[in-house]
Amino acid sequence: MSGEFEFVWPTAFDESEREHLSASSINMLMRCEQQYAFRYFEGLKAPPKAAMVQGSSVDDAANFNFRQKILSGSDRPLPEVLDAAATSFERRKDEIEDWSMSPGAAKDGVIAMTQEHHTSIAPKVQPVAVQEEFWLYSGEWDLPVLGFKDVRTSTETRDLKTTTRTKSQKDLESDIQAGIYLLASHASQEAERFVWDQIVQLKNGPKVAELERIGTQASYDITIRMVAVAEQRIAQMRESGIFKPADPSHWACGYCGYRNICPYIHD
Ligand code: SF4
Repeated sequence: MSGEFEFVWPTAFDESEREHLSASSINMLMRCEQQYAFRYFEGLKAPPKAAMVQGSSVDDAANFNFRQKILSGSDRPLPEVLDAAATSFERRKDEIEDWSMSPGAAKDGVIAMTQEHHTSIAPKVQPVAVQEEFWLYSGEWDLPVLGFKDVRTSTETRDLKTTTRTKSQKDLESDIQAGIYLLASHASQEAERFVWDQIVQLKNGPKVAELERIGTQASYDITIRMVAVAEQRIAQMRESGIFKPADPSHWACGYCGYRNICPYIHD
């Protein structure tokens, strides 16, 4: 199975509407088939939770800084980057239906996490590309996988995660997104090192935790196989109309945006 993939550079026209898989769609499938069916078969988009909008706003501010750093080699001053984060949050916050925290606290969290990113992560990162799109093909798959790398440097691909729970090395080693992004790096002969920059929201403020994973031929083969299995399962689900739910005690059910229409939940 090894070596049966290729890397295709982005084309000049917008292909994003073409049928494809992605790390996030495969993650959703592995978490809950019913959730996947709501999102991808029925086209229902659940409104984002406050924590997701926080993460997107921190990402926007990091991208604002890193995009210009490709050429300048320097980080923008902190007030400018914090302003980008606040502006992004104000623009995105109307999408939130389920807050679980006050809007003021959510915005304060965005500012604190952006400051932590700017102080502890940004200075050691020299980007070569930001939000770089890739399409990955394999002879084992019918559909390509579309991805966007947060940041690529000359030595690694980096992905920013905002979270309330520090993820472990074991989490990273089994993460399908990391597997796919490393496979894309391998196929395009880029550095085969993947870094998670975690900003963990704790009661006494955010803290940074960095983890890294190195690509191996064995892990590439596993990733190719996992995507192939996901693709087969999606075809079976489409044909049978049967979607396995998550265990109701799984954390995913507690945070699920489809909970009020889920046939497996009675609140
Ligand atoms: S509530 Fe639970 S079982 Fe239902 S769609 Fe969401 S994650 Fe799946």
